[in-house]
Amino acid sequence: AEPRLVVVRATRLSARLTLLVLRDITERERVEQMRRDFVANTSHELKTPVGAVSLLAEAIESAADDPDQVRNFAGRLSAEAARLAQLTSRIMNLSRLQAADELNDERDVAVDEVVTSAIEAHAIQAGSSGVELVRGGERGLFVRGDAQILSEAVGNLMANAIAYSPSGSSVGIGVKAVGEIVEIAVTDRGIGIAEADQERVFERFYRADQARSRRTGGTGLGLAIVKHAIQRHGGEVRLWSRPGRGSTFTIRLPLVEPPADQPRPTRARK
Ligand code: ADP
Repeated sequence: AEPRLVVVRATRLSARLTLLVLRDITERERVEQMRRDFVANTSHELKTPVGAVSLLAEAIESAADDPDQVRNFAGRLSAEAARLAQLTSRIMNLSRLQAADELNDERDVAVDEVVTSAIEAHAIQAGSSGVELVRGGERGLFVRGDAQILSEAVGNLMANAIAYSPSGSSVGIGVKAVGEIVEIAVTDRGIGIAEADQERVFERFYRADQARSRRTGGTGLGLAIVKHAIQRHGGEVRLWSRPGRGSTFTIRLPLVEPPADQPRPTRARK
């Protein structure tokens, strides 16, 4: 949008000179609009699981004489509660990422450490989905940032790659330096994403149709979190995908020099 400048302060310096302080209000309006959308979307998304929780609680009350039914409803109730917990924690993560101007725990971070912790966090999901995580690429590369936020971003990509892949397939995690950039690529051979959806999947709460019908577990927030987390680190996320063939999400971040006490980067066996 074209900047719209308003005068915030005018100070008369001399008879012929006035100092004006201007502010671009389109940017402020945009941020304010984003905040309003976020609150509206969020309330909408919370309504479904909250409604389900109270319906299931009622169902348990009225089925009190039937232990099998009570067990059944209680199981579903705890699944809905878990989903609600995941949703609220993701909403909080996202709004924190959107609100803060600065990362509060910034240091030189080994990409190896980021990838290792993301893999550890998703080993169980991979195991129970019958998907193998295959790690490859270069070692000893460093970026500047918040290790936890970066691991969560890589982890969200892994979680999706596993969730949208068939059992028996593998998900690749590759690291590569390209000039001043490190690329962390997560590749699956899963359902893929239709071209029309490829831009939109990074929007909050957007889920492609295949995903809706395939899996009820998702929140539609994972990729929005990845995008904001990586942008906050001065990087970007790219997507390549073909329906039926699979997807590759690539996180690109500025490289920094390894700290003095670290070995130089090495090219690991593929
Ligand atoms: P969700 O919780 O629904 O997975 P995300 O924001 O992580 O939310 O992803 C948004 C949508 O993008 C998903 O619902 C799905 O349609 C699509 N998507 C994300 N990752 C993949 C993938 N690896 N393969 C196929 N579709 C994907």
